[in-house]
Amino acid sequence: MRTDKNQQDKPLNTTVVTTDVLIIGAGPSGALASSILNKNNIDVLVIEKQKFPRFSIGESLLPQLMNNLKQADLLATVDAAGYQLKNGAAFRKNGDYSVFNFEDKFSAGAGTTYQIKRAEFDKRLADEVESQGVDIRYEQEVIAVEVLADCCQVRVRDVEGKEYTIEAGFILDASGFGRVLPRLFDLELPSDLPVRQSIFCHVKDNIVDEHYDRDKILISVHPENDKVWYWLIPFSDGTCSLGVVGEPEFFENIPGDNKDKLFACVNAEPDLSRLLVNAEVTTEVEQLQGYSANVKQLHGSRFALLGNAGEFLDPVFSSGVTIAFKSAELATSLLVKQKNGETVCWQKDYADALMKGVDTFRAFVNAWYDGRLQDIIFYEDASAEVRQMICAILAGYAWDETNPYVSKPEKRLNVLAEICKK
Ligand SMILES: Cc1cc2nc3c(=O)[nH]c(=O)nc-3n(C[C@H](O)[C@H](O)[C@H](O)COP(=O)(O)OP(=O)(O)OC[C@H]3O[C@@H](n4cnc5c(N)ncnc54)[C@H](O)[C@@H]3O)c2cc1C
Repeated sequence: MRTDKNQQDKPLNTTVVTTDVLIIGAGPSGALASSILNKNNIDVLVIEKQKFPRFSIGESLLPQLMNNLKQADLLATVDAAGYQLKNGAAFRKNGDYSVFNFEDKFSAGAGTTYQIKRAEFDKRLADEVESQGVDIRYEQEVIAVEVLADCCQVRVRDVEGKEYTIEAGFILDASGFGRVLPRLFDLELPSDLPVRQSIFCHVKDNIVDEHYDRDKILISVHPENDKVWYWLIPFSDGTCSLGVVGEPEFFENIPGDNKDKLFACVNAEPDLSRLLVNAEVTTEVEQLQGYSANVKQLHGSRFALLGNAGEFLDPVFSSGVTIAFKSAELATSLLVKQKNGETVCWQKDYADALMKGVDTFRAFVNAWYDGRLQDIIFYEDASAEVRQMICAILAGYAWDETNPYVSKPEKRLNVLAEICKK
C-alpha cells in the first residue's frame, strides 16, 4: 500500500510518496489502466497536470473499445451518459456516398459505440475510477523522472509550485501529447507520416436534412484535393464537432483566420456546405498541427508508454482512444502477471502485440492518403465479405488476426485497390 512518508509539520518538498505503479495522466489510457490495476489489488497513483473537465480532441469512439470499458466496469456510466449513438461511418466524395454499418462487420464484438465530448467523457471516466478507489491527484505535473535499480524517483510540482517526490515500482506514461517520458528519456522519433494540420470547432448544426444520419460519423473528401478531408461528428445535444485536415501548405493558401479557413473549406464541398447551411459556431475555432509522433521504444526498465505518449498516427479513422485503451489493456495485463510472479516479455507481449493493430491502422491511413482506400471505399461492386472485413477495421478490430486485412494489411489493400481502381 502507498505511504506518504512526510510528517504533517514537514514542508511539502520533503514529502516522499510511494506507490507500486505511477500513472502519468488521467486521460482515457491512464483512467482505464488505473482501474484495471486497482481491481487487481495493485497500488496505483495517478498524477494529472490539469483540472478536469478539460478540453481534448478525439470525440468519435470505435466499437472495439466497448469491451475495454466493460473490462474496467466503466460501461454502465458511459451507457448512462446519454451520448450520441454511433453505429457506423459514412463517406462522401464528389457526390458519391458510401456507408459502413458497424454491425455488419467481419469480427465478433460490439457493433455500436458513442460520439462524446471529451471534456465530459474523460471526467466521467476519471470520476468513476476514483469511486472505484483509485487515487487521482489533479493539478500536479510530473517534471522529472529517474530510474534507479529498485524504483523510479519521480519529481512532481503542484499548481502552487511546491515539489515532492514519488517513489514508484513502475511508471505507465499516459500523458498523451505531453509525451513526458519520450521527452525526458530522449525517446522521441519523428513520425513517418507527413506533417498535417487540423482546424476544428463545435457548431450548433441546425441540420434539417431528413436523410442526414446522426448515428454515423461523416467523413467528406475535398472535391479538388483528395488529401484534404473533413469530419462531422454529431453529439446528442444538437451540436457537432466539425474539422478539416490537410497539409499546412494547403491552409497557408487560404486567407484569413482559422474560422475563415475552416469555412472556406466547408463551402468548397457542396454537400457538406448544404448540410451546414444554418450552422452556428459555438466554440473557438482551433488548430493543431504536427500531431503525428513516434518513439524509439514503447517500454524500458520500469516503464511503458501508453496511448499517445507512444505513437500517434492520424485522426482519419478515429483510432486514437481505441489504441490508447488497447495499450492500457496490454500493459496492465503484464503488470498483473509480474505481480503474480510470472515472467513476461514486454517486447513481445506489449510492444509487438500493440503494434499489430497500430500497423493495421497505419496501412489504412497510408492507403487513405494515397487514394487506394478511397477507391476501395467508394467502389460499388465490392463483395459483401470484403466490405465486412474493411468494416471491421473501421470499427476498430485491428488486432483480429483472423481478418486477412489485419494479418497482411498492405498486401490485401494493394490487391483490392487494383480491382477497385478508378
Ligand atoms: C485532430 C485530431 C482528431 C482526433 N480525433 C479522434 C477521434 O475522433 N477519435 C479518437 O479515438 N481519437 C481521436 N484523436 C486522438 C485522441 O485525441 C488521442 O489518441 C487520445 O486522446 C489519447 O488518449 P491518451 O489517454 O493517450 O492521452 P490524453 O487524452 O491526451 O490524456 C493525457 C493526459 O495527461 C496529462 N498530462 C500531460 N503531461 C502531464 C504531466 N507532465 N504530468 C501529469 N499529467 C500530464 C494531460 O493533462 C492529459 O489529461 C484525434 C487526434 C487529433 C490530433
